Amino acid sequence: MCGAGAGARLRLKHDETTPVTPPGITVDTHVQRLARRWGLTKQEDPEKIERDLMALVPEQDWTIFSHRTIFHGRQACFARRPNCDGCLLRKDCPKIGVMTSDK
Ligand code: SF4
Repeated sequence: MCGAGAGARLRLKHDETTPVTPPGITVDTHVQRLARRWGLTKQEDPEKIERDLMALVPEQDWTIFSHRTIFHGRQACFARRPNCDGCLLRKDCPKIGVMTSDK
């Protein structure tokens, strides 16, 4: 009576200590910049930006949204000269505040 029962208890214990939902959306400098460029917020304060994003992004996607937005900010949507010509989002992105030749 120890094999499966012990496994189940261990899984239950693991589940008890694993957060069920993420605590929020990470709003670093990349997320701040992209959220404004995408028209998801007009706020400047990170906490207010996070509240705007949390109202738009499904809770289960908060973590992946943060990771992907930060990655996109590092790889394409640069602060000074975003690579809009090579960006997969260029047709849908409102490019708010961005001065580019294709806008
Ligand atoms: S189209 Fe330009 S402004 Fe929009 S996400 Fe891509 S790089 Fe950023």
